[in-house]
Amino acid sequence: MRTGNPDLYLRQLLVGPMANFIYLIGSKRTRECVIVDPAWAIEELIAAAAADGMTVTGALVTHYHPDHCGGSMMGFQVPGGVAELIGKVDGKIHTHKIEADGLKKVTGISEGDLVRHESGDKLEIGDVTIEMIHTPGHTPGSQCFLCDGCLVAGDTLFVDGCGRVDLPGGDPAQMYETLTGTLAKLTDDVILYPGHDYGPTPQSTMGAQRQTNRHLRVRSMGDWLRMMGR
Ligand SMILES: [Zn+2]
Repeated sequence: MRTGNPDLYLRQLLVGPMANFIYLIGSKRTRECVIVDPAWAIEELIAAAAADGMTVTGALVTHYHPDHCGGSMMGFQVPGGVAELIGKVDGKIHTHKIEADGLKKVTGISEGDLVRHESGDKLEIGDVTIEMIHTPGHTPGSQCFLCDGCLVAGDTLFVDGCGRVDLPGGDPAQMYETLTGTLAKLTDDVILYPGHDYGPTPQSTMGAQRQTNRHLRVRSMGDWLRMMGR
């Protein structure tokens, strides 16, 4: 992985039947890490960190769909989410403030387990800084995490794709603004780490995505909505 920070620990793990990518991000110096979007197999995720000599000290959630945080929504149930993690590690669940109530409803965790964030908030682990970027569209409080030139994007941006906008909380106009405004500010060398293994490769760069991802190449909202079948 290309990064300028020798302290950065970042692992991508493929988990569950929906091809979710879960990430461990932390500090090699302090041996602490957080789990991004813990679900499906909490014991295995904690064990994967432990096998690298890392202690899990909390979680970051990109959005409140059960395949990213566990729990249930509209009859769809996913085991092993943030609620299970809270019982097994000493730490908080970091979410965008707009997503917090939905996250509580879907997973059953309490307010005391949560830290509500604004866009631009930073979480520091050792010499590693994780910046939270609000990227609404897939859900109202979706967020991406930018860390030493790595973008952990949840269901906002996939390799050669983007998240659906027809699920609960989806908003096509907000997603268009996220794709063509917020994400357009990232430099070409930023590495994209998506929330699902839906593309031809498990990761890419923003520069490569600007060539091959049609959702980053649209000229107008009308064109994009037609592309999305609306
Ligand atoms: Zn989702």
